[in-house]
Amino acid sequence: MTSPRVVAVRTQRVRVPLHTPFVTALRRTEFAETVVATVEDSDGCVGWGEAPQVWKVTGDSLAGSSAALEGPIADALIGAAADLSSARLIQGAVVGNRSAKMAADIALHDLVARRAGVSMADHLAGGPDGPTHLTTDMTLSVGTPTELAEAAAARARDGFTTLKIKVGTDAAGDAERVLAVREAAPGCVLRLDANTGWRADEAVAVLRTLADQDVELEFVEQPVARRDLEGMAYVRRHQPYRILADESVFDLEDLVDVIRAGAADAINVKLAKCGGITPAIELLEVAKRHGLGRLVGCMMESHLGIGAAAALVAATGIPGEQDLDAGWWAKSSPYAGGITYDGPCIDFPHANGLGIEGVLP
Ligand SMILES: [Mg+2]
Repeated sequence: MTSPRVVAVRTQRVRVPLHTPFVTALRRTEFAETVVATVEDSDGCVGWGEAPQVWKVTGDSLAGSSAALEGPIADALIGAAADLSSARLIQGAVVGNRSAKMAADIALHDLVARRAGVSMADHLAGGPDGPTHLTTDMTLSVGTPTELAEAAAARARDGFTTLKIKVGTDAAGDAERVLAVREAAPGCVLRLDANTGWRADEAVAVLRTLADQDVELEFVEQPVARRDLEGMAYVRRHQPYRILADESVFDLEDLVDVIRAGAADAINVKLAKCGGITPAIELLEVAKRHGLGRLVGCMMESHLGIGAAAALVAATGIPGEQDLDAGWWAKSSPYAGGITYDGPCIDFPHANGLGIEGVLP
């Protein structure tokens, strides 16, 4: 019996309407758009993956991801073994294009898990009986203190116990916004994400103001520019909260730079930044070895990419509430099968691989 080979890589675009517009400093989004990819082997088994559009962080577009998947990534995979030995071919097929690599890498893992007859979490854990669900935080859209307070109270009523507040667009008003959320949702754990928006001195000033008001924060994410590791290390030393690197860490080289600079206490690993499950596992292992905290996050992506990230969390046993709320914003999942949301709880399907059976019409 010959071992199965990859015979096809296919793509299709999927548009997911949101029930609540997602507003950041850079845009207002009423739907998520993504490229869904499938990898098929010579036995007719199919694995599913997703390449989210990420204009503002990695620059990945739907058109670019489709072209990379149908071009160099398909060229590298077709004819190769339909197992994880081919994961390195994806990473080497093209420079950049992390979303496209994410899609192909997830699809390859999904294919292998389906062939083995195990869930994605059990496949990644290398054994059965992993968790069947996990909980996520919820990001509040940018807004005025009043709007944020209303949103925080609403999300607390929805059952969320950890809220992530977007800051960094207006340092003068940031402390006021955070205080408004604390008052509106007093039972919630708070995280801040400045998305590179502060200068180092602004970050220190805002965070010291919050500390003076006895505001408890689990961490502060990406206070300064992606490459300003010196500034991030300065912020880390001059205020009391833990610093989490997001935009500063795409890949292993970035992580090594952050560790050397002493710039962060923890990192946010996203499949769309690093290029899939395979590089994410490596990042998480290196971070753990160096004593850094770990969080798994997402872009504005669908239940497919989130399902893969959630399975990775379950398999690696990362503690705490993750940053995987993107699917919650969707009016409904665009797939038959896959994960489901129940408030902050992400439930895994009782199925092989990611449990995706198809894209709904
Ligand atoms: Mg972030």
